[in-house]
Amino acid sequence: MRSVWLAQRELFPTKIVCVGRNYVEHVHELENVVPDEPVLFIKPNSAISHTIAPPPASGFHYEGEICFLFLDGKPVGVAPGLDLTNRTLQTQLKQKGLPWEKAKAFDGAAVLGTFRPFSGNFADLRMELERNGELVQQGSVRQMIFPPERLFQEIRRYFTLENGDIVMTGTPAGVGEYQPGDVFRGRIFLANRLVSEEVWKVEI
Ligand code: ZN
Repeated sequence: MRSVWLAQRELFPTKIVCVGRNYVEHVHELENVVPDEPVLFIKPNSAISHTIAPPPASGFHYEGEICFLFLDGKPVGVAPGLDLTNRTLQTQLKQKGLPWEKAKAFDGAAVLGTFRPFSGNFADLRMELERNGELVQQGSVRQMIFPPERLFQEIRRYFTLENGDIVMTGTPAGVGEYQPGDVFRGRIFLANRLVSEEVWKVEI
């Protein structure tokens, strides 16, 4: 089983619940329709990674996201993460009305930072993602179509969040392809305080 870290504590998520289409500008960038309820999908434990493997083909995208880690049913940690996506394949699957797992849940598709203990106001959280020193994505909870409390409520209707399970809350605009050698830096801020930061280099 693959693990994640909450500060010094190692945990073994059974799943990652991901949210699609949670920022209006990103919905438009992929020419999707703004949803009237959260779009949920799951990545399994085998998708967890702390490094980025080189993309096996063109059309593989990064999506920077605010991620929460759950203990005793509550979100106790926050970290930046990348929802890696085979966009070419996802577009084909969407057009056919088929599930996205091949494009979203493959090995290594959930790249996660170290979770940091979190308490405070969800609305004050925001994320920044740099690619090779350039700011490519930024998003705050205030911009989300469905804020975390609403997402967790919807998720709990269908899925038990076990100890170590993770929720990835969707990506803002600015997604794009990643290449071997790229360096990504994800940061989570609570108001103006940096609470979690991670650097990942795409392997060559
Ligand atoms: Zn995503």
